[in-house]
Amino acid sequence: MTQVYNFSSGPAMLPAEVLRRAEQELTNWHGLGTSVMEISHRSKEFMQVAEEAEQDFRDLLKIPANYKVLFCHGGARAQFAAIPGNLLGNASSADYVDGGYWAHSAIKEAEKYCSPRTLDVKTTLDGKRAILPMSEWDLSDDAAYVHFCPNETIDGIAIDEQPDFGNKIVVADFSSTILSRPIDVNRYGVIYAGAQKNVGPAGLTLVIVREDLLGKAHPYVPSILDYQVLAENGSMFNTPPTFAWYLSGLVFKWLKEKGGVGEIDKINQAKADLLYGLIDKSDFYRNDVATKNRSRMNIPFQLADASLDKVFLDESLKVGLHALKGHRVVGGMRASIYNAMPLEGVKALTDFMIDFERRHG
Ligand code: PLP
Repeated sequence: MTQVYNFSSGPAMLPAEVLRRAEQELTNWHGLGTSVMEISHRSKEFMQVAEEAEQDFRDLLKIPANYKVLFCHGGARAQFAAIPGNLLGNASSADYVDGGYWAHSAIKEAEKYCSPRTLDVKTTLDGKRAILPMSEWDLSDDAAYVHFCPNETIDGIAIDEQPDFGNKIVVADFSSTILSRPIDVNRYGVIYAGAQKNVGPAGLTLVIVREDLLGKAHPYVPSILDYQVLAENGSMFNTPPTFAWYLSGLVFKWLKEKGGVGEIDKINQAKADLLYGLIDKSDFYRNDVATKNRSRMNIPFQLADASLDKVFLDESLKVGLHALKGHRVVGGMRASIYNAMPLEGVKALTDFMIDFERRHG
């Protein structure tokens, strides 16, 4: 069978080793004669899975003790509502940094609950799309918090600077970049991420919240989105997505075995360098994001001759390179190369791209 490399933006590729292990223990987990999906979330066996997953996640990101980790439902979009619901307090406004599609979507949701102040930070640098440096973000004094998205999955734009905004509560949507590089959690009030890109299956959303921000939810916030309720109940106020939690736990162990976030950071850099290097060398392919804001996780690229897009997708699929079609908003191609994508997968893609250019260029 052809080796398949899946470049889907999410739900995305999972580490092969993790899938093999999950397959082995699917029907007889821990000798119980049943799968992990079929046991109570309150059983001692599952509680151990849950606790280990949380500890491994904490270890990987060096999450300080004064932060809670919540394992939630609802995806990142539920957090678009949970954030204002939990953090606005008596304020009527929050600063929302608009750097791309997902940051903008968070603003649209926040409009239901407050008057978000939009900071459009999109700019150009040498004719390419870029983001203003954080020092130029015009934050307001009375905002309840500042929200931004460090990696725009669709636009392929990243904000790699770490925030340093004094006492301001910084909230960040890390859905497509969590665990891909070390971050200083202390700089954030809330970090959230849908699991289905760099962590595990869809259905689980990770929230890291500083303890002093708990207990301030608006009375109308649904209990399952109230951080205080979730924290008090160990993320088991209602039935959590147990299979996704278990599988994410296996991914955390896999990542620890690989040397942790510091090591995967180097591999991610090597993968991105390989692909951007090829794109930049060629007149046949192009990426229109300024170097300093290029995403290492989601790499959109265009063919100079867009009439070849379909041929490119058909041929790449035939050689096992899946899901390279760009998002409809951007067009062209997009290679999502999260932690689980090995360097060999990116090498297979660049080899194909070189060959395609030779034959069609
Ligand atoms: N934020 C970012 C950066 C994303 O990439 C996505 C999904 O692709 C979302 C939010 C929405 O996530 P969900 O589908 O889990 O609600």
